[in-house]
Order: sequence, then structure tokens, then C-alpha cells
Amino acid sequence: MKIDRLPLDDKTNGWSAILPTRTPKPALAGEVTADWIVLGAGYAGLAAARRLAENCPDQKIAVIEAGAAGENASGRNSGFAVDLPHNVGSSLNELDGSHRFMRLARMAITELDGTIKTHGIECEWSLDGKYHTAVSSRGVKEILEPFARELEALGEPYDWVETPDLARKIGSTHFTAAVYTPGGALLNPAALSRGLADSLPGNITLYENSPVQDASFENGVHFNTAHGSLRGAKLIMAANGFSEQFGFYRNRLFHLVAHCSLTRRLTENERKTYGVEKPWGLTPANAFVGITMRYTNDHRIIIRHGLNYCPNQRISESENTTVKHRHKNLFDKRFPMLTAVGIEHTWSGFVCLSRNSAPGFGQLAPNVWSAVCQNAMGVTKGTFGGILAADMACGLNNPLIADMQSLGEPSLLPSRPFLDIGARARLIWEHWRNRHEA
Ligand SMILES: Cc1cc2nc3c(=O)[nH]c(=O)nc-3n(C[C@H](O)[C@H](O)[C@H](O)COP(=O)(O)OP(=O)(O)OC[C@H]3O[C@@H](n4cnc5c(N)ncnc54)[C@H](O)[C@@H]3O)c2cc1C
Repeated sequence: MKIDRLPLDDKTNGWSAILPTRTPKPALAGEVTADWIVLGAGYAGLAAARRLAENCPDQKIAVIEAGAAGENASGRNSGFAVDLPHNVGSSLNELDGSHRFMRLARMAITELDGTIKTHGIECEWSLDGKYHTAVSSRGVKEILEPFARELEALGEPYDWVETPDLARKIGSTHFTAAVYTPGGALLNPAALSRGLADSLPGNITLYENSPVQDASFENGVHFNTAHGSLRGAKLIMAANGFSEQFGFYRNRLFHLVAHCSLTRRLTENERKTYGVEKPWGLTPANAFVGITMRYTNDHRIIIRHGLNYCPNQRISESENTTVKHRHKNLFDKRFPMLTAVGIEHTWSGFVCLSRNSAPGFGQLAPNVWSAVCQNAMGVTKGTFGGILAADMACGLNNPLIADMQSLGEPSLLPSRPFLDIGARARLIWEHWRNRHEA
């Protein structure tokens, strides 16, 4: 099977640009065999490989990755490891579902925390929680208040913060109120991805810059790249939105592009003017219209704004330039005391979603398991999906596998062009309906 669409690294990722240069692991060359192949070195693939290595210390595991660790969606995101579901709901079923999700997400955060500490991964990891913010009084009433009630029903701690208190914490008067939740972590996603890739156990070989161009699933798994071939008995598919290229989840995944910008570092004087010292992270009441923002340990502000339908998983340079100007305007409105601060990096990344928000998890063929489709929360979802796919593939009886399976399977999408029309119409509707949250 020829792989038609390959990931493309446009070298714009700001999170990795502010890190020291890293030398990727050598690309696949010649003929290689392994007991296990993991396709993709994002959070899902790296977690799956690490767990396979623990489960099968005497077996050989090969991770094959098209680009370099930390340059994919896993290294380009806003850097929130989220422990709470976005929508809770109030029925017993929904509350039960939320508890299952929180068990999974917290297992992922504990695993990441352990790996980061064991290997001394420097990735600005802080278990400091986040603010969920609303701009308008309508947003407060329709989103924040129900969210707070749902947290109470779940027995989860939170603080209700309003301006001017909120403005003192984040240095912007743009928001009316926020629900602060203490769980979850903030991180530099490129640094975490690199650190995870560079600390893999000895029975794993990671091949970077090795796009799989051709795949066969007869008599085991066989992948060809430009300079080598990889044969393995079993596969964990962790290529996220690209898994459909390999014949899996066809017509069940759709792709959005998300955009981020990172300012330059604030000077000493600007930090005094800004008046906030402690790093913080905030997510918007509405992810389509609102802005995700963070103040980083090294005194930069990151903005994630804009989510658009992007079925071909490609973005042009001119679109990036337009986004950069838009982000600068949004930044200036939120931080009028910092308008001299320029945007240093603007980049985009792809988010893979299913219609029913279910993950692509489980056994796909006698020798293939998957951990894909993280529905925009891949730091935790990719990590627990990868770990549990590895446990399932090794026949381990981990009770969390049932929690994972209870999240369902990606449902069938309308075929194109109906999908394109429907997805674009839905996004226009989301923007219009939530315009008060901009
Ligand atoms: C701008 C932005 C902000 C986001 N913010 C957050 C956030 O704050 N918190 C959060 O939890 N999530 C966030 N997300 C989502 C999150 O980044 C993803 O859900 C997560 O990275 C998915 O992880 P993954 O391992 O499944 O996939 P990926 O990181 O996409 O990894 C899949 C890998 O498969 C490889 N691959 C694909 N095809 C081939 C091939 N043919 N040959 C070899 N390798 C191949 C790719 O190169 C890629 O490295 C954000 C995403 C974006 C774009």
C-alpha cells in the first residue's frame, strides 16, 4: 500500500526554536527486523513504546517517525496536560464517564511526572493547574457557572475568580471570570517530546526522519522508507490523523489546523510594567472563538487562537503570516501595556478529531493495535492511549483498558464533499454563536 500523504515539518515550531539544537536519532537504513513496531513518535507512540519495553524487556522494539521528535503535533501544542473532561454533563452516566476519564488522565499525568523526574527532563513541567476563562457575562452564565456546578457534582476542587482578582493573576482585564482548577500540568511540549524520545529504554530503537512510504500487513508488518525497510511481527499504530493513510479509521477522522504564536521574552522593565511574576495558563470557554494563553517560565506569552477545518493537513506560508498579524492584534488587546512586545514565532499544527469525540483505540487486526485520534487533548489522551494499547497488545489485564474502551470508537463521518460542507458550516456556526467570547 502506497502512503499518499506524509507529515510535513515546515520548521516553524516556536517551542523547539527556543530550545538548544538537538541531533535526531539516525534514520532507518538497510533491512531491520523487530518484534514490535510503533509507528509515530508523538505522545501516543512514545508512551506505547516505553510501556512495551517494560512489558517485554527481552524483545526488540522499533519506533519509526517521519520527522524529528518534538516537531509534530505533540511538540507544537499549547502545553496543557489536562485532567478534566471539557464537557461533564450532569446525569449519573455522564458523571461516571467523567470519573473514568479523570482516572485515565491522572494516570497519564502520574506516568509523565515519574518519567520526567526519573530522567531529569527539563520541560518547564509544573503541576500548577489552569484557569478556564469567560470573556462575557453570557459566557460566565452559559459556560463557567454550569462548569462549576459540574465540578461540584464530581467532588472536584476549584476556585471561582473574578476581575479584579483575575486581572492581578494574569495581568489582563479582558476576562470577566474564571474557574481555576488545581489539577493538570503546564509544560513546553517540544522539550517534553524530545526528553521522552531521548530517554527511551535500551530495547527500543527510534528511527527519526524516516517517513514510511509503503506499507504491507501480509505476513507481519512491513514498512519501506526511502533508505530502508522495517519488518515486525506486531504493530502499534500511533500516527494519529495519518493512520487513515494506512487503511485504518477511513472516513472516521477529520482534521483541524490550530495556530500558535510565542512572543519574545519580556525585558526586566516590561516585566515590571506587566506586574505578574508567576507563570499561568488559561483555556477559553469556547475553544473555537476564544484564546488559549500562557505566561511561560522564561517570561514569554503564548497565544493559541484559530481552529479551522483542514482536510489535507497542509498550511501555506501566507496563511501563517496572516495568523501572526491576527495574533499580534489579539495580544495587544489583552495586554495594552505590552504592545512593544513582538511575536517571535508563529506556527500551526494539526488536530485529529472524531465526530463523537471517541479515541481510535484497540485491536484493529490480529497483530495491530492503535492509540490514535486524541481529540485535541493528546498530552494526556495520547499518553494513556499509548500505555493501554501496549498493555492490551501484551495481553495484560489492566482494569483501565475497560475505562478506555468505554469512551467508544470513532463514528462514521459523512462522505466528502458533504463532510467538508458540514464541518465548515459547523465552524461558522460556532464562531457566530460564541462571538461574545472573542
Ligand atoms: C496548536 C495546537 C495546540 C494544542 N494544544 C493542546 C494542549 O494544550 N493539550 C493537549 O493535550 N493537546 C493539545 N493539542 C493536541 C495535541 O497536540 C495532540 O492531540 C497530540 O499531540 C497527538 O499526539 P499523537 O502522539 O497521537 O500524535 P502526533 O503527535 O501527531 O504524532 C503522530 C506521529 O506519527 C508520525 N507519522 C505519521 N505518518 C507517518 C509516516 N507515514 N511515517 C512515519 N511517521 C509518521 C508523525 O510524523 C507524528 O510524529 C494541540 C494541538 C495543536 C496543533
